[in-house]
Amino acid sequence: MQTTLQLGIVANLYHETPDLRRRIAAVDWARVLPGLGGEASIDVAEGVEQIGLVLDLVGQIAADEIAPHAAEVDRQGARLIDGCVVYADATQRQLRLLAEAGLMGFILPEEFGGLNLPVSAYTAAVELISAADASLMTIFALQGCGETLHRFGDRALQERHLPRLAAGEITACMALTEPGAGSALGAVRTRARLQGNRWSVSGGKIFITNGGADLLLVLARTEADEGGKGLSLVAVERNDAVRVIRLEEKLGIHGSPTAQLEIDNALGDLLGKRGDGLYGVTMALMHHVRLEVAAQAVGIAQAAQTQAVRYASEREQFNRTIDRFAPVRTMLFENARQIETARAILYATTEVVDLRRGLRRTGANPGELERCDRLLDLLTPLSKFYACEIVNEVTSRALQVHGGYGYTRDYPAERYFRDGRITNIYEGTSEIQAGAMIQHLTNGGLAVLVEERLNRATENGDGTLQGLQDAYEILAAGLEAAGAADKLSQQGWARAFVEATGELLGGLVLHNDGRSDERSATLAWTQARLAMQKAVSARTQETTSFADETYEMIVAPYRRDA
Ligand SMILES: Cc1cc2nc3c(=O)[nH]c(=O)nc-3n(C[C@H](O)[C@H](O)[C@H](O)COP(=O)(O)OP(=O)(O)OC[C@H]3O[C@@H](n4cnc5c(N)ncnc54)[C@H](O)[C@@H]3O)c2cc1C
Repeated sequence: MQTTLQLGIVANLYHETPDLRRRIAAVDWARVLPGLGGEASIDVAEGVEQIGLVLDLVGQIAADEIAPHAAEVDRQGARLIDGCVVYADATQRQLRLLAEAGLMGFILPEEFGGLNLPVSAYTAAVELISAADASLMTIFALQGCGETLHRFGDRALQERHLPRLAAGEITACMALTEPGAGSALGAVRTRARLQGNRWSVSGGKIFITNGGADLLLVLARTEADEGGKGLSLVAVERNDAVRVIRLEEKLGIHGSPTAQLEIDNALGDLLGKRGDGLYGVTMALMHHVRLEVAAQAVGIAQAAQTQAVRYASEREQFNRTIDRFAPVRTMLFENARQIETARAILYATTEVVDLRRGLRRTGANPGELERCDRLLDLLTPLSKFYACEIVNEVTSRALQVHGGYGYTRDYPAERYFRDGRITNIYEGTSEIQAGAMIQHLTNGGLAVLVEERLNRATENGDGTLQGLQDAYEILAAGLEAAGAADKLSQQGWARAFVEATGELLGGLVLHNDGRSDERSATLAWTQARLAMQKAVSARTQETTSFADETYEMIVAPYRRDA
């Protein structure tokens, strides 16, 4: 857990985000750190201090070296020059700096040059970098590929790639999506054929973030099965057999290259077992990266809100600053509530991820490991869904607070709005997250998620806990009814039920914080009321019909031939 770089600078995004620091302080480090192995398990207090120092360093780099160049990166963007992907100038400098600081192997073990830090700390770093420049995050957070290689690669592969990834000498990408296989990755057509003890991969991929990377994790068909069980994940080192043929022109995250790839007999090595590439290896990778995309959303939302609050305190209309007007306050209050709720859910999730990593490493307590797995089946899609939905609302309000200036490039509000928009599309759209969650929720998942927290919570005299309990009961009854409905209806109602679940869980976490913090208590009180409203609203959704006849009647009039 040692970083080497010392910077003689003062601005610090970590210091300027007290809510994030509170979240990090609230992690149950006494349980998490011993599970890590390595130096951190020796002394918990020392481990916590080290984490603080590393996040301080990330906060400094984010504030002084990344944020000031975000607009320039947005304008210059990543480019494709003679078949090579070239990052924006500032992105190149920043990646060198992050590598020099030893921050490119955040969660990798020390034996491979990593920092061996917990996922909660890494997620906080991702949040800070995203707040400074959301496009840089997409390259930084592909560190998750290293984690996958560590978990599923053999020793030779680990030794070949991990030290260079941790040192920032090489970067990685996940090459999954194809034109006919987006949400439905089981339809991937790229093929891999056994050649000696290696695999020869051929096919085409689209939308690959950092597609010019040195190491590609390619989802390819190795088995006769035409569905997801025929796929494996193959680690391919860049060579002439992999060509970047175009970069997408996108709405936002311009500094992040999104590549179309042609792969022609590229040799690679299997990660995990044959046929386990989608449901085993890739899902593990995606679960990991989904949380980092949630962190990206929280970071962008935080940056947008910070800018909006500053603007509202300076901009005068009708002889007063606009933050004196209740409608402006309402927008900024709602932003704060949503950001804190998203953050509460996210770090409650990463804590379970960290506990599970420790249990896996030590092999202790299989029952607890199973409980963590079940919790994460719910918490991971919920974190991704909630954060990536609210960032769109938060950045839209932040832009609105700027009035006409928000629509121009004079202020970064429009960039936050554009950058945030990708988060509920990639790494599994919000519809896919909600669809996965509703199956668990109608199958007893709500109780798994909240009952223990409800039982542990204590009333503080303002009715918050009662409100949360009422919301739980309404929601549970609604889910029971939904569970008896047909699949199409369940999927149609999923969004409303997942939103209500997010408000309820966020409310419970904030209520717990509220024992020592008035701000959290106030937010929790609001959450309790909102959770109840959303629970009632989710139940009301049950009247909506998704039947073919209704769709034909309401939507068909818009249908025109192309
Ligand atoms: C900037 C960017 C970066 C990306 N980076 C990567 C990367 O690094 N690696 C990679 O492999 N891919 C990457 N992707 C691809 C991304 O993961 C996919 O775009 C995404 O999963 C959606 O797939 P699709 O675009 O084919 O949309 P589709 O799957 O066609 O979805 C279209 C719409 O239908 C909905 N839908 C589809 N199926 C269902 C369902 N079963 N239930 C409910 N609704 C459904 C979706 O929610 C969406 O609203 C990236 C994409 C972008 C734009």
